[in-house]
Amino acid sequence: KISTLLPSQTSNTIFALSSAQGKAGVAIIRVSGPKASEAVNRFSLKNAKFPKPRVATPRSILHPITREVLDYGLVLWFPGEDVVEFHIHGGNAVIRGILDALSSLKEFRHAERGEFTRRAFDNDKLDLTEIEGIADLINAETEMQRRQALRQAQGRLRNLYETWRQQLIENMALVEAVIDFGEEENIEDGVLDRVRRNIHNLVKIMSDHINDNRRGEILRDGIHVTIMGPPNAGKSSFLNYLAQRQAAIVSPIPGTTRDIVDVFLNIGGYPIVIGDTAGLRKSDDVIEIEGIKRAKDRIMTADIKICILSLPEILNNNEKENFNMSFKAFDEPIIKNSIDKDTLLILNKKDLVNNENHHEMIMIPQLEQNIRELFGTNPAWEVSCVTGEGMQEFLTGFLDLIKDKFDSTFTQTALITQSRHRQLVSECIHYLENFSNADDVVLAAEELRYAVNCVGKITGRVDVEEILEITNLINRLSF
Ligand code: GDP
Ligand code: ZN
Repeated sequence: KISTLLPSQTSNTIFALSSAQGKAGVAIIRVSGPKASEAVNRFSLKNAKFPKPRVATPRSILHPITREVLDYGLVLWFPGEDVVEFHIHGGNAVIRGILDALSSLKEFRHAERGEFTRRAFDNDKLDLTEIEGIADLINAETEMQRRQALRQAQGRLRNLYETWRQQLIENMALVEAVIDFGEEENIEDGVLDRVRRNIHNLVKIMSDHINDNRRGEILRDGIHVTIMGPPNAGKSSFLNYLAQRQAAIVSPIPGTTRDIVDVFLNIGGYPIVIGDTAGLRKSDDVIEIEGIKRAKDRIMTADIKICILSLPEILNNNEKENFNMSFKAFDEPIIKNSIDKDTLLILNKKDLVNNENHHEMIMIPQLEQNIRELFGTNPAWEVSCVTGEGMQEFLTGFLDLIKDKFDSTFTQTALITQSRHRQLVSECIHYLENFSNADDVVLAAEELRYAVNCVGKITGRVDVEEILEITNLINRLSF
């Protein structure tokens, strides 16, 4: 009854174009299933030797029925999984010719979405975290995303979670032994105490794992940076400047319903999603109020905030009234409270104060105190978006900060990359705490079983009733 839930009918042999659609030097068609080896023979000349496992073998590729030569290319045979790859010329007619020929074979059919992945999972070649890792690797835009995804695709998280699961299962076995034989057989004294200590240690390790400041998830999704500040400080100019200077703008993210402009930047290999927000000030204008509300939402969820003020405005010159007005925005508790140690201060329009009068211009004492109170010893830079002055210093300092916060390259720990993992580890900890607090050993064992299942859900090693959930996940991730 379970098999009807699975898209993977392993009795069928499935095939699909694995490389991208469109003309290319090479295309790869993959065939998987019990008749995969038959495909090799039927597409080869009669007297051709069967290719050695995992060795790229050059040969003519013939139509199995008409015997017309469709192309010449490489054939690769992967026994065990029983997968064949045809590496062919990546032209549309060549690809279509071979796919059509495969369709004409009995018990061969085109793979459904996610089916190859599903089979790798069913054959235990990949667990869920590795599948997620490969999907991330395909989507990786920057060096740091690539590294993190690669580690996960190669089983870094799988190993961690499998180790936990094994430890939990061992401890569960001990508890069950006490339940089954405890009274009569008088098994080893203190077994339960030992289990409690083990679980206590594991809870500590798991808690450390989820107390990671979401580094892995943030790196995966892009580090969200929000630019904020009063109107006319130069927020948009600052974003434009960065966007032009970073050659690797991958894509502008469509503003969904927000009127916040998001730009994706690759700064030193780190994925940065940087957004410009509406100027913060008191307003009676309905549309402006809405913009400010969205800006506040964004500010609250940013990983890093950059606050931009205009230098001439905060210096004691004729713009002081203007500044007093715009600075009112910082009386808003939400803004005030959002300025934290991760808020960087940019003093813009330095070009306008680069004259001999500069020395005479001093900050209005009250404002200076305000700024001190708000920004403390936060990193600050004086820049000009017009001349570019100070921008290189900013970028260097910014990159250092990001490295401090997010660099996991040299840490041995496997980072959580998805909220799915985080949720399940938290649930697991919850059950383990219930275990520790349970008076009754039978109930305690039950909690332990729930905990094992939580960890199993992360890697996909679970009871059959979870299969549908996993199928959906794989379909979503499939590559
Ligand atoms: P926003 O409202 O904070 O987004 O500010 P804008 O980026 O739209 O800039 C407001 C005005 O300040 C525009 O006229 C810009 O040309 C000007 N501006 C921005 N940055 C600088 C700068 O570094 N130097 C000078 N002189 N003008 C600037
Ligand atoms: Zn603007």
